[in-house]
Amino acid sequence: MANESFPEIREAVRRLSARFPGPYWRALDRERAYPTEFVAALTEAGFLSVLIPEEYGGSGLGLAAGAAVLEEIHRSGGNGAGCHAQMYTMGVVLRHGSPEQKQVYLPKIAAGELRLQAFGVTEPDAGTDTTRITTFARREGDTYVVNGRKLWISRAEHSDLMVLLCRTTPRDQAAKPSDGMSVLLVDMREAVGKGLTITPVRTMLNHATTELAFDDLAVPAANLIGAKGQGFRYILDGMNAERILIAAECIGDAKFFIDRASAYARERQVFGRPIGQNQGVQFPIARAYVQMTAAQHMVDHAAALFEAGEPCGTEANMAKLAASEASWYAADMCLQTHGGFGFAEEFDIERKFRETRLYQVAPISTNLILSHVATHVLDLPKSF
Ligand SMILES: Cc1cc2nc3c(=O)[nH]c(=O)nc-3n(C[C@H](O)[C@H](O)[C@H](O)COP(=O)(O)OP(=O)(O)OC[C@H]3O[C@@H](n4cnc5c(N)ncnc54)[C@H](O)[C@@H]3O)c2cc1C
Repeated sequence: MANESFPEIREAVRRLSARFPGPYWRALDRERAYPTEFVAALTEAGFLSVLIPEEYGGSGLGLAAGAAVLEEIHRSGGNGAGCHAQMYTMGVVLRHGSPEQKQVYLPKIAAGELRLQAFGVTEPDAGTDTTRITTFARREGDTYVVNGRKLWISRAEHSDLMVLLCRTTPRDQAAKPSDGMSVLLVDMREAVGKGLTITPVRTMLNHATTELAFDDLAVPAANLIGAKGQGFRYILDGMNAERILIAAECIGDAKFFIDRASAYARERQVFGRPIGQNQGVQFPIARAYVQMTAAQHMVDHAAALFEAGEPCGTEANMAKLAASEASWYAADMCLQTHGGFGFAEEFDIERKFRETRLYQVAPISTNLILSHVATHVLDLPKSF
């Protein structure tokens, strides 16, 4: 499509993705297996370190470059969920880590020697109300002793490090509910079996997500990122990047569905003519294109604000909402355009349909975005 940013990066990602076609993803999906070879290829090509500054061994590019990488993976029929967090989870170390922490971790993350792609925030009893998390890190000498539970922590089994948000002051003793939470960098290689238990959760899509149980896990106090008690603020910073990048994945999904539906509607003959000649078939495809294009402008705008260091919470949220709705509309349209064949595994439509549905719930659900816009932009009264 015309005027796309980073044409060289896009072309290179398309070439790489072509080595991992539908049958590769389908086989993994059936087994709920991790895309090890795909992640290794992306790592080797340097696409997962585009956001790390050059002084630490990355490409030093802005968020829009990362968005282009993820969009192309999704447009090609693949899925970035196995590794997208390797791109942005390091942001919390980059923005809030000490100079020593940056020197120790960032070059190895950039080289792919360390995988930092687990991000532990959500808990079963807190849901979206993050201030209600209860996983607690108690200071004992040079260590924090962590107890609690996390749910939906993706890629925990495929990460060397995890950014963990936990309470260091109980909610009712903190000055505000959002105070008293801290970020610890947990070395999974040392933690598993010594206070950390990881249990995979099988879901409707292949996502390597898990439940974590912490039972007196000892984490060195040196692994605290930034100031104690300020963790919620650090995590929020990173969430804007995450939302914009996930929105780019939705744009890639929408393009995949539009490409597939257009091609099929041009070729499939019913009643002696291509089904795409019927306006009842072509209008939904055109509508999906309009919605995707509008959402793409919002994603580009949010990425530009993020790169300029401007506040972009509202724009990141709106981009994610618009893009996830565009991809879901396109998914439904594409399935309908394919008739019965849309349900056949070998077309990859039903797999992508399941995959793209996630984005209306994670990493933040649509209602919570609408609530943000209603109260922060439109000055409507808060409901909670
Ligand atoms: C496959 C998968 C992978 C994930 N990976 C990670 C990960 O790696 N790390 C991590 O920390 N988390 C992860 N998550 C968690 C994800 O961020 C949450 O599922 C998401 O934020 C929604 O929270 P919840 O599931 O607790 O829903 P809840 O907060 O329980 O909400 C349930 C529903 O109620 C609605 N709702 C709640 N309160 C209100 C309100 N006041 N007004 C209107 N509607 C409301 C919500 O919009 C939602 O639709 C993942 C989730 C999934 C499914």
